[in-house]
Amino acid sequence: MSLSLIGKSISASATLKLNETAAILKAKGEPIIHLGGGEPKSKAPLDAIIAAVALINSGEVRYTPADGVPALKQAIIRYTEDFYGRRVTPQNVIASSGAKQAIMVALQAIVNPQEEVVFPAPYWVSYPEMVKLCGGVPVPVLPEDGSFYPTLRDIEQVVTSYTKAVIINSPNNPTGAMYSEQFIAEIVDFCEKRDLYLIMDDIYHRLIFDGKKPISCYKFAKNQTETSKLIVVNGASKQYAMTGFRIGWAVANKQLISVMTNIQGHQTSGPSAVTQLATVGALNGLQSSVDSLRMTLENNRNVMVERLRAFDGVRVSKPDGTFYCFADFRHYEKNSTKLASLLLDKVRVATVPGIEFGLDGHLRLSTCGTIKDITEGIERIKWALDPNSPNELYIGQRKLVRDWL
Ligand code: PMP
Repeated sequence: MSLSLIGKSISASATLKLNETAAILKAKGEPIIHLGGGEPKSKAPLDAIIAAVALINSGEVRYTPADGVPALKQAIIRYTEDFYGRRVTPQNVIASSGAKQAIMVALQAIVNPQEEVVFPAPYWVSYPEMVKLCGGVPVPVLPEDGSFYPTLRDIEQVVTSYTKAVIINSPNNPTGAMYSEQFIAEIVDFCEKRDLYLIMDDIYHRLIFDGKKPISCYKFAKNQTETSKLIVVNGASKQYAMTGFRIGWAVANKQLISVMTNIQGHQTSGPSAVTQLATVGALNGLQSSVDSLRMTLENNRNVMVERLRAFDGVRVSKPDGTFYCFADFRHYEKNSTKLASLLLDKVRVATVPGIEFGLDGHLRLSTCGTIKDITEGIERIKWALDPNSPNELYIGQRKLVRDWL
């Protein structure tokens, strides 16, 4: 079949594919434990539901401005003031169908074919594919010291005259690492000096633990004018458990937002009117659901780390936020794709192979499920990999015999 070069170069989203496989197995009655998920299990805030239902009940659900309804922009402006101490105008804001689309239209607005976009590895699976969709070249960079915390030196080493933008995602999917204030200050300063766009993907910035507070990149920006190349991305999906609503946003200079709006206008005509209003409800309503989600996730993180640390042969660094743990299984298997399929096949535990995030030998384990999911899931993984565990395991009524070690 005759397909475009770009079309052929894009791979399926590994995480969406995994969700599908796990759902099919579950529907067949298989006792799946899903440690691969990237969405909270809690309910959307009531204020979001009430706002969405009110619009639906009116029966008048229309197109909205391509960059979002004024009420949503106002709510995002307030959010930006509250969390970033930054005053912006409606022309500095675009609401999109998820943070994913906000990042995509930002890249489409700034990247020319062959230009490079740099981001630390491990990285969110979509960054390389989004850059490729723009005809650009993704440039992932692993921290030289083997940690999940990049330094400015790591970034500097791969920036060339072709570099157009840097993407920073902190706290990070898949590692949960939240980068230090010093690193954020340095990267903001570096991008200003080198005249590079800096996309801050802050989608997890309220889901941070141990009393940490979100960091505002604007605090370190010397250029506070409309020529600033800082793009701050956020959204409703993670903090409000509203993944299916598909609302995210970007805050940037007016000219860039206007170009992003033109692009988005031809892609989707703008996000859904219903879910924009739901997000207004979530942003302006009670914030207790965010606190309770954060506390649940912190507790789940503690249990996950404790269980993994009791597991000889697995190395894990404690996530600062998000709902992921990125554990090193190289002692058992260096090929993470092989390992993840063994675990799904033999003990029905879904995980995401590290290679999808640019670092093999690791698995991304999600803490979105229940404590039972976490403890039982890790127990099954341990049984599958550790030759010292008993030869048999019961999953419900089913007796498993380990014959692959
Ligand atoms: N950025 C990161 C780092 C993510 O993990 C995700 C969701 N997995 C997104 C952006 C996109 O979120 P959404 O489109 O649901 O707002």
